[in-house]
Amino acid sequence: MKKKLETIRRKISEAAIACGRKPESVRLVAVSKTVPTERVEKAITAGVTLLGENYIQEAIEKHDALSSYKDVEWHFIGHLQTNKAKYAVRFSDLIHSVDSVKLAREINKQAAKLNKIQNILIQVNIGKEATKSGIDEETAETVIREISTLDHIRIKGLMIIPPFYDEPEKVAPYFSALQNLSAQIDRLKIPNVSMKELSMGMSGDFETAIENGATLVRIGTALFGERI
Ligand SMILES: *Cc1c(COP(=O)(O)O)cnc(C)c1O
Repeated sequence: MKKKLETIRRKISEAAIACGRKPESVRLVAVSKTVPTERVEKAITAGVTLLGENYIQEAIEKHDALSSYKDVEWHFIGHLQTNKAKYAVRFSDLIHSVDSVKLAREINKQAAKLNKIQNILIQVNIGKEATKSGIDEETAETVIREISTLDHIRIKGLMIIPPFYDEPEKVAPYFSALQNLSAQIDRLKIPNVSMKELSMGMSGDFETAIENGATLVRIGTALFGERI
């Protein structure tokens, strides 16, 4: 685990430096879906500080079991159904996958109950793939403006899950389109909206994502091995 983690961190640093960015401008989200709690704990003791989970029930169990590790951030990166929003709000430092105003309203309502400001990212569907969640690029501004008025939510950036390609070069246009959209939204200076984070890049393409401005790379397989 320690070796794999070191290798990934080194690759992240090298990719950042190669395009003139600071290594610390990119954070590793260790994607631990389906990984048993004991192995997640090993990752934490090896130095992982940021975990990404996809499934609510599983995430809650691990979060509660590992709650003594206070410095660990928990991110929810999976598709979130509105009726599960209350659970996500309980443990998530950042929810990457907000893809509708309806979901944002529910997150806001639940965060208000907990007296919490919930940080979120807006998931964008670039290229309009029918199978992927996310708001369309064209409606992003309207949706972000609407969500930005919710008291208990802060938008911190954008997230994308591009279509799957074997060659990272093919996903580059998606990453670059998300980076452009982020810059465009940033220029609007919408109150309560920051475009600081760009969540993009997975095991097979994180270096390409970093070239295109990723600040949060979500890596599962390269760290934990193939999922069962
Ligand atoms: C599983 C998953 C990842 C990690 O994918 P790997 O290819 O295993 O690195 C990243 N992001 C999301 C949203 C995921 O569901």
